[in-house]
Amino acid sequence: MTLTPIGELAFLRKLQRLLAEGDFSATYKFALLNALADLSLEHEPAPDGSLRVSVSAIAEKFIEYYWPQARPYRPLEGTGFVLHQNAGRQATVISAIAAAQYMHATLPVARAAELRWHTLVTKVAGTIKGMPLWKLQTVASERDEFLYREAELADDSIRLLPGVPAAFRALYGLVLDAVRGAWLRQITNIAANRPLLGNSELASFLFGSERASLDGFRGVLRDHQDGRCLYCRKDLRGAGCVDHFVAWSRYPVDLGHNLVLAHDGCNAKKRDFLAYPAHLERWQKSHLERASELAQRFDSLALPHDPARSRAIAWWAYEQGEAAGAHAWIDANRFVRLDASWRNVLGTGDLRRVAEPPPPEYPPR
Ligand SMILES: [Zn+2]
Repeated sequence: MTLTPIGELAFLRKLQRLLAEGDFSATYKFALLNALADLSLEHEPAPDGSLRVSVSAIAEKFIEYYWPQARPYRPLEGTGFVLHQNAGRQATVISAIAAAQYMHATLPVARAAELRWHTLVTKVAGTIKGMPLWKLQTVASERDEFLYREAELADDSIRLLPGVPAAFRALYGLVLDAVRGAWLRQITNIAANRPLLGNSELASFLFGSERASLDGFRGVLRDHQDGRCLYCRKDLRGAGCVDHFVAWSRYPVDLGHNLVLAHDGCNAKKRDFLAYPAHLERWQKSHLERASELAQRFDSLALPHDPARSRAIAWWAYEQGEAAGAHAWIDANRFVRLDASWRNVLGTGDLRRVAEPPPPEYPPR
């Protein structure tokens, strides 16, 4: 039987149905969809358009998403508590993460404790295999395996069917909004959460960037950029502003190599736009070609980073921007329509392509 890759419209329809009608008692299925979307961006599909995804990679995503959510909501009011993610008993994953938080203050620290991290990932992976992985695609007691097939579970991995990774990539923003909107509604609807809810802070509590933690990157970036703004190349007189090179609103992950130091003014003008290809080239030379210099400094401060992933995310963002005819920011209020020239800078879609051996010395200019 030959398989026709699913088209974007069919994909959206099925996803919409799943979100509207799926039988969700816990929020795991939202985390699972979020994870599949993220992993589709971060890895290159096979030639037939499919993508193998390990259950432990999904588990690591779960831990990332639920980490902030396992903390008490509004603890300063005395009545704050950890929000329920399940209609009955608290979700197992939340309890496991809350236990990990007793020992490790932050996610990077938890990740660095290899043995305990491995135990946590294995536990979460077990929960994922036990329930959401097989229940996700059931709507009104009817199974529609349009994302992956239960029969294809092998070596603890699933295979996203041809066309599915491409659909997640093309529709990423839309999918994420839909999934997170449904997630938020689910939490609001759990009776046990009602005493605490009913205000607009919930969305940023669940999904907001912990921006304070970006301050830890500032010193490394300042040294690495030779005290200059990545965009205008002028000296940074004040503290400068840690900027997401690919904006947070496009892809909400804080990874070291995606962070640059810029003037407050440059950062404010760039907003959520893509930086035009000359800026991209500067970022590529400064942050990707010299990835390992940065990585060593990030490691010594236990700051999260993954240059291959940052490059993959940039590649995805520029590819989407080019397809959509996006405006790319130059400086002040000047923009240029993004053409294909960014490809000369970032190269092919080989998502693992990051310069590994550092050049011998960086000549400051
Ligand atoms: Zn500047």
